[in-house]
Amino acid sequence: MMTCKILVVDDDPSIRESMKEFLNISGYDASLAKNAEDALEYLIHHPVDIVITDIMMDGMNGLELTDQIKKQYDIKVIVITGFSADYSYEEAVNKGASDFIFKPIRFEELILRLKRVIKERELEKERNEMLEKLKKMAITDALTKLYNSRYFYQQLEIEVGRHNRYKHPISLMLLDIDHFKQFNDSYGHLEGDKVLMILGKIIRCCLRKSDTGYRYGGEEFTIILPETNIIDAEIVAKRVQETLKHETITPLPGKVHNITVSIGITEYVYGEELSEFIQRADKAMYQSKANGRNQISIILNTDVE
Ligand code: GH3
Ligand code: MG
Ligand code: MG
Repeated sequence: MMTCKILVVDDDPSIRESMKEFLNISGYDASLAKNAEDALEYLIHHPVDIVITDIMMDGMNGLELTDQIKKQYDIKVIVITGFSADYSYEEAVNKGASDFIFKPIRFEELILRLKRVIKERELEKERNEMLEKLKKMAITDALTKLYNSRYFYQQLEIEVGRHNRYKHPISLMLLDIDHFKQFNDSYGHLEGDKVLMILGKIIRCCLRKSDTGYRYGGEEFTIILPETNIIDAEIVAKRVQETLKHETITPLPGKVHNITVSIGITEYVYGEELSEFIQRADKAMYQSKANGRNQISIILNTDVE
């Protein structure tokens, strides 16, 4: 376990000094603050895992301090109070305190409570990391490591919403692998999967900072290009095709197979439905197919009307 960083806040010098000494002997890394204001100042510049604070202090009291800390940091707080104090356990818990210790402090008890709070913090961290992982998995396509189609619809809605607000250009690109069924039939599904992975890698490489790439369906991909007019979108499309052309795919030893994609691009028209936008990109892609594949087609709104 990492050394736990603890900040002890108490306006009584003898209490805070003896706590620090005891905590250090017990293997914790303890620092001191003489009041709540100093504690908040200390937290700005130092990472801390747990704050142990007295409640009754001049200036800001320990409950207000707890409140401030919980609003700003991911730090656990243990509060200390005298038996006669009129602060209740409930009040402390409502402010976000994790535990409660009475004065005079029994050090064995302090350590016991500290250990419990540390454990709780560790479990919370693990859980949060797990949640982050799950969130990422939920929007990622496992094979290509691009985003999945669920996330595509979410992001397209967000980006188009932004476009509608600022009337900035936004383009959409749809890519479909040519004669992919034939490739699978000739070399097997696993070799086909490798092609999808390669294409995922190429798309990621060709994207600019604000572009996002998605596996839209089986062997179909989309790219959302915010702040991009059709002229710049075509440049990105050409880059994908060019990069793919130079990729060597060897489904069998000594056998090189060239993979091509048909691409459709279009630019969003202010106020239109998302489905219209997507359908136009799809239509452009099918134009590329109809014209012999391995090419880029553009449909602008004016072509449709
Ligand atoms: P076209 O040039 O008209 O696009 O022809 P195509 O053969 O690529 O198109 P079609 O829609 O007929 O076939 C798509 C193929 O993509 C069929 C399917 O086996 C393959 N495919 C879809 N998803 C996957 C996948 O996850 N892995 C592999 N290996 N193949 C896939
Ligand atoms: Mg297809
Ligand atoms: Mg295809």
